[in-house]
Amino acid sequence: FNVPPAVNEPIKSYAPGSPERAELKDMLNKLRSEELDIPMFIGGEEIRTGNKKRIHPPHEIAHTLGHYHQGDETHVHMAIDAALKARQQWVNLSWEHRASIFLKAADLLAGPYRQLINAATMLGQSKNAFQAEIDSACELADFFRFNVQYMTEIYAGQPESAPGIWDRVEYRPLEGFVFALTPFNFTSIAGNLQTAPAMMGNVTVWKPSKTAVYSAYFLMKLFKEAGVPDGVINLVYASGPVAAKEIFSHPDFAGFHFTGSTGVFQSTWKAIGDNIEKYKTYPRIVGETGGKDYIMAHKSCDNKAVATAIVRGAFEYQGQKCSAASRAYIPAGSWDEILGYVKEQMKEVKMGPPEDFSNFVNAVIDETSFDILAGAIDEAKASNEAEIVVGGGHDKSVGYFIEPTIIVTTNPMYRTMEEELFGPVLTIYVYDDNKFEETMDILDKTSMYALTGAIFAQDRYIIEQATKRLVDTAGNFYINDKPTGAVVGQQPFGGSRGSGTNDKAGSAINLMRWVSPRTIKENF
Ligand code: GLU
Repeated sequence: FNVPPAVNEPIKSYAPGSPERAELKDMLNKLRSEELDIPMFIGGEEIRTGNKKRIHPPHEIAHTLGHYHQGDETHVHMAIDAALKARQQWVNLSWEHRASIFLKAADLLAGPYRQLINAATMLGQSKNAFQAEIDSACELADFFRFNVQYMTEIYAGQPESAPGIWDRVEYRPLEGFVFALTPFNFTSIAGNLQTAPAMMGNVTVWKPSKTAVYSAYFLMKLFKEAGVPDGVINLVYASGPVAAKEIFSHPDFAGFHFTGSTGVFQSTWKAIGDNIEKYKTYPRIVGETGGKDYIMAHKSCDNKAVATAIVRGAFEYQGQKCSAASRAYIPAGSWDEILGYVKEQMKEVKMGPPEDFSNFVNAVIDETSFDILAGAIDEAKASNEAEIVVGGGHDKSVGYFIEPTIIVTTNPMYRTMEEELFGPVLTIYVYDDNKFEETMDILDKTSMYALTGAIFAQDRYIIEQATKRLVDTAGNFYINDKPTGAVVGQQPFGGSRGSGTNDKAGSAINLMRWVSPRTIKENF
């Protein structure tokens, strides 16, 4: 198939004096000066219920960005009906037309929508400019372009035919609608979970996280402008239980595409199981869930590289990436030097609102998250098994600010060595240099999640040993690099155990989950 080759969208620097910095500042000022009235989008109609919820930046609780209109079961039902109606045509549209809609969406995102999506992410989700550039506009453009390429590779895959016979496979969309439940932490993922199934010919009901409705609204406008027909993607805001009840009891429910917490994923899976007899077809369940991602250093490591990986891996976007390093295992002989480098780098790390581009760390997403993190920090302060060596402060008077914090524990089973906190708190266990193997055993045993992990060593035998020994602990395994920042088209992303179904976002594996192939054999 002849499609434009997918290339990663080049990342802009936003350096002082650059034109992109000026454009982004203008957009931030514009959005800050408005108070938006945000509707749902069902079958192409804007729906306003009057049940309004206020949206504020996590870093500035007092400022109002706008209000969104909350829906109820009626609206979820309307969205399902609109999707099924749109399906009649969308399912028959040839793949080239679907591809060109999403290629156009990528170009809009890289061009006229770039600063809008970045600014909305910065304000609504408290993300700094550089992270917004990487994780929002660029990554979503990459998802669109690479998924188009993977789609064509899937369609090209055909079986052998014996003489006198023609065997072929049609990659049909699922028989029903797909439900996309999307997270706050990546605008790119929020824009991929409904579009990946839609690209493969499916219709979708999309419920964003309530803490990311602001950027979801702008994404919906982008989809419309790119030419996604009415009803193919329906955006609804309803509480989780209300949406779940309507969707999972519907006979045409055919797929679930999710990124979010392990707990929510497990309860939806149960709800789907409880309704299994109702469905026309077994639904596809694809989820990327929690993580307790690690950095493990061996005594042969480059200490400075480990320090950089700790600072970037644990604290970029306030540690709110599913891939963020939240525990580390460091050999005692290297520890003092690594901590010294970390402290040196942390002097440069400023915390505050993302509108000031010199702030590396911004606020965590909401009060619930703040309270979990502040609670864990205070618990560590009081514990005789833990000590805080970096940070430890928290303040929610203006916004939800948690200072980047490192806890060192003497107990490799300490609560925050195992439990996901989803914030800028890293717990480190300093191990005896000669107990590398035993420490790997502990790491494996305490990994109920398996999303990302990183090994730091210069010794090639150690790298090989760790790569084999830790095989089940991470779907994305990094050697001498931080465990975050997977790039679409380069490192397909996803994990197993409590971290998800490992259907690699941004890959043909993921897209294959959204088709129901029909094999045809014809005799001549
Ligand atoms: N793809 C992201 C990364 O590698 C993480 C995605 C997530 O947080 O769900 O950093």
